[in-house]
Amino acid sequence: MKTLGLALMALAATTTAAFAQQTPTTAGVFDPGSTTFVEAGRLLADPANGVVQRDKTLVIRGNQVVEIRDGFVGDAAQGRVIDLHQAFVLPGLIDSHVHLTGQQNPNSRLEEVTLSDADQAMVGARYARRTLMAGFTTVADLGASNQAIFALRNAIRNGDVPGPRIIAAGSAVSIHGGHGDINGYRDDVMHLLSSESICSGPEDCMRAVRTQVRAGADIIKITATGGVLSNTAAGLNQQFSDEELAAIVGSAHRMGRQVTAHAHGVDGINAFLRAGGDSIEHGTYLDDQSIRLFKANGAWLVPTLLAGDFVARIASSPDNFFTPAQTAKALEAGPKMLDMARRAHQAGVKIAFGTDTGVSAHGDNAQEFALLVRAGLTPLEAHLRISNEAGKIAPGMPADIVAVSGDPLSDVTELERMKFVMKSGVVYRAD
Ligand SMILES: [Zn+2]
Repeated sequence: MKTLGLALMALAATTTAAFAQQTPTTAGVFDPGSTTFVEAGRLLADPANGVVQRDKTLVIRGNQVVEIRDGFVGDAAQGRVIDLHQAFVLPGLIDSHVHLTGQQNPNSRLEEVTLSDADQAMVGARYARRTLMAGFTTVADLGASNQAIFALRNAIRNGDVPGPRIIAAGSAVSIHGGHGDINGYRDDVMHLLSSESICSGPEDCMRAVRTQVRAGADIIKITATGGVLSNTAAGLNQQFSDEELAAIVGSAHRMGRQVTAHAHGVDGINAFLRAGGDSIEHGTYLDDQSIRLFKANGAWLVPTLLAGDFVARIASSPDNFFTPAQTAKALEAGPKMLDMARRAHQAGVKIAFGTDTGVSAHGDNAQEFALLVRAGLTPLEAHLRISNEAGKIAPGMPADIVAVSGDPLSDVTELERMKFVMKSGVVYRAD
């Protein structure tokens, strides 16, 4: 597996198989033998080719699309018929960077020491539902307590709670004292809360990767540089050594896991790409050398413009709830991200849709589309990137189908007003 897109596709295939044996007990009843006809007035079945078709009927059997027929030909004698004649129908949306088990708020630092892993899983169930209702049928969760996020992923897969299918990283692999470790509390509290995924030195970092794989990680997330929201004045530059990065990428790839890196500073971005990393989250200070490395590796950039926009807005508002260390970094990095995405896109770097939601509010994920368009992507490109390999409506694909009223190719903010959500053949929303 070379790309995040491929990982999403692989995940979709495995969860579909799991879903076929399950009966969701929430919104909608799933019967593996049932047939549903979705009559679509306008249909963007494959964002990769951008063709909008008129008056089609999607035939869904169990959790899969089996056929696309011309005209509105749903047969009520054979199954359920869903009328989306006035709607614009497209594949379920994919967000490749979220944090479902929490959301930034004035109490975030207190919650780190008051919410148990079980509490966080329950909070995650609330946000997973909100994410699904916003039309996102697949997400990658890039940083959460192992116990909380793996339990949530499995519960959704088993149909126990509604939510998007989740590719979960679990706990981020990070250096001691770095972004991803616990920081800014009294030392004995930090000793208690620091995770097994925190490491120092190449050997220890291989151990951290392998520990994450053993615990159930689908993908390895690392923090290659400092971060805005860690409560430490440690900057935004490279934190792992080159030797540690090589050990991490090598040990992850040998176990079939991709590695994606949180990275702002250019030294950390370029060191991680030189080590063979698969994708970069944020990418704030990338330069021409980074662009060459992205293209040489076929690596993805996930610019998370919504997170940059959000932290800059909070840090400069009268209601700023960030600490002084967080505020300084938010004002420094946030405003640079739009221009960074524009340069990378113009140079031909592959851009994937990801929001870092959990920084901003769950359910607002689709606001990223308008920011990507401001950074120079067309609405189709902004959508295409999320669904490069996984998200299309075609026979044999999981029936992940969403719809809005207007045309998102002329006004991408239509995607912020979701009207219909089906995931794996189950309808969760029909306004
Ligand atoms: Zn993040």
